Amino acid sequence: MGKIAALPELLVNQIAAGEVVERPSSVLKELLENSLDAGARSISVDLAEGGVRRLRVADDGGGISPEDLPLAVARFATSKIATLADLERAVSLGFRGEALASIGSVSRLAIVSREAAQKNAWKIAVDGGTMTPVEPAALAAGTTVDVEELFYNTPARRKFLKSEATEYGRSEEAFSRIALSRPDVAFALTHNGRRSAHLPPEDPRARAARIIGDDFAAGAVEVSAEGAKLRLSGLVAAPGFTRASRDAQYLYVNGRFVRDKVVAHAIREAYADVLHHDRHPAYVLFLEIDPALVDVNVHPAKSEVRFRDSGSMHGFVFHALTRALSRPLAGETAPPPA
Ligand code: ADP
Ligand code: MG
Repeated sequence: MGKIAALPELLVNQIAAGEVVERPSSVLKELLENSLDAGARSISVDLAEGGVRRLRVADDGGGISPEDLPLAVARFATSKIATLADLERAVSLGFRGEALASIGSVSRLAIVSREAAQKNAWKIAVDGGTMTPVEPAALAAGTTVDVEELFYNTPARRKFLKSEATEYGRSEEAFSRIALSRPDVAFALTHNGRRSAHLPPEDPRARAARIIGDDFAAGAVEVSAEGAKLRLSGLVAAPGFTRASRDAQYLYVNGRFVRDKVVAHAIREAYADVLHHDRHPAYVLFLEIDPALVDVNVHPAKSEVRFRDSGSMHGFVFHALTRALSRPLAGETAPPPA
């Protein structure tokens, strides 16, 4: 008698959800990335009880057609890549086609969406993995995704959630990371009916001021460096403005927030002469690199990357920052000769 059996689809999705959907903040990150991939210019986030009871993301992006709604919530179905070659040059934030399927297997998920060409909006719901038929709904434009009662059907996972304040704090951080990366897009955040952020489209320094603080943004030094098939830009703290923790370190590779030891080390080295060992630099840096030179597919949440040549990456970042930090700061330049 054989002992091996294929797992039921719901269980497969719930296992996958273990990797992509750890807590409300990870759901929020996936939904915000989907809104940006859909070309949204304005995104509102509404959370209840830290995002555990309800997490809603509404955007004004391109929308999903009624035919595509069942596929949007199906596992490994995506509109973003079709071939391995696409994967190797993917510029979208998503491409695995598993976030919505995973979220729908561990919550009550509802999507209402309207493509510009449609006369009305359409809705699909997934309740603990069970899909309801697509039906007409009301929505002016874009897509609204509602996630209620996260982990209601997986009590073991729900037990690992922390207090409302902790889950909210993490969700707010996920929101900030994405809002910092796209100052050209408007974002709003409310929690338990109270507005906690309202960000108009603005320039990068203004966005950094709202999210990291005026003190950082006012003195921050601009970085702009170009290499072979890569570009680094953004803002780094003036040498005198360092932090006691690493909480203001934002690095984006091709638009995606990542933590990377090689780049973090290169940045720290560039400050070495001016930084006390228990102080940390603050920065918002964007690395644009030929997708063929970096692998973002190492982790389902895509929070880590692997550079083809980490040695030259280290050197490039170190030199770019060293140059930026050695420029005289505004206000410290010598007055023009009389
Ligand atoms: P992925 O983002 O990796 O493609 P998801 O499960 O997150 O996988 O989403 C599945 C598909 O649903 C996407 O490829 C996209 O076509 C569609 N989709 C999801 N969210 C939105 C949205 N906010 N606006 C428009 N389309 C969306
Ligand atoms: Mg996605």
